[in-house]
Amino acid sequence: MFKISSVKRAIIKIRKCTKFAIIIILSTLLILGIVSSFYKPIYSVTLNGELLGYSENKSKLQERINQYIEKGDGENVAFVDIDDLPQYKLCLLKRNIVTNDDEIFKAVASKGTSYYKYYAITVDNKEELNVATFSEAEEAINKLKEKNSNNKDKLGVIEKYATEQAEYANVEKVVTDLYEKKVVRKTNNTVVAATGTNTSGKVVNLGISLIRPVSGTVTSRFGARWGRGHKGIDIGAPKGTTIYAAASGTVTVSQYGYSGGYGNYIMISHGNGIQTLYGHCTSLLVSAGTYVTQGQPIATVGSTGNSTGNHLHLEIRVNGVAQNPQNYLY
Ligand SMILES: [Zn+2]
Repeated sequence: MFKISSVKRAIIKIRKCTKFAIIIILSTLLILGIVSSFYKPIYSVTLNGELLGYSENKSKLQERINQYIEKGDGENVAFVDIDDLPQYKLCLLKRNIVTNDDEIFKAVASKGTSYYKYYAITVDNKEELNVATFSEAEEAINKLKEKNSNNKDKLGVIEKYATEQAEYANVEKVVTDLYEKKVVRKTNNTVVAATGTNTSGKVVNLGISLIRPVSGTVTSRFGARWGRGHKGIDIGAPKGTTIYAAASGTVTVSQYGYSGGYGNYIMISHGNGIQTLYGHCTSLLVSAGTYVTQGQPIATVGSTGNSTGNHLHLEIRVNGVAQNPQNYLY
């Protein structure tokens, strides 16, 4: 008997507690319901302590700001530098509060510094004109190369960023402005051409001994080449390598320019109708009329004139007829 009654008492107690718990839960829900019908969780957004507004979707807004910082507006603005990022604070606010993500975004964006991206076209590393895109820069340079502009080997592109938008030129303007005609100096552009080529294989005795004007390997031999006779040999050497006089004599030509393909070249007369010619030079160290001794520096290796790489084009002529230099040197 005693046992049963104590169990009953326990059951009654549990029932009382359950009722009480249900009442608590229901009233909590009711309060929450009332509160959420008037209030909602929302983010207040501040920048440097200044309230910009309210946002319901913090991550979406911040993502938009991040994208703007990294990629700008996708047109000319390359990226944006923003000193301070907005601060978000979660709060419960009245349901009728107006969120203004657009205004917040604009306010944050306006505080940033926009960097514009463009491309400068350079001649000899000096910035000449700006274009908006890399493909325009490429196109302009290719056109100048096609037109064989005199500065075609000095053209370059630099990627630029600036806080102010530059003035952009179009491809046509770049090509017109930067095109340089080959400088032809008529008064000083005599090309002393060989009067013939000794292809007989017979070696003419020069009566003097020659030394190598540069050390290097022969990259193109004397004789038939590309359907035309090669009147000398080519010796590959780095740009700027000193070229020495093969023998003593008088400089008869020291001439800058295209010179019929020789580029900047030197010619020395050694007497008895013997001449040596040094083509495609970068700089010429002696002027016409100078007497030079064997081994004296006369020029430096380059790739001027009709040349695709740095080398010395060496000719040896006897009475105007080009001889094979490899009969005497290399
Ligand atoms: Zn050559």
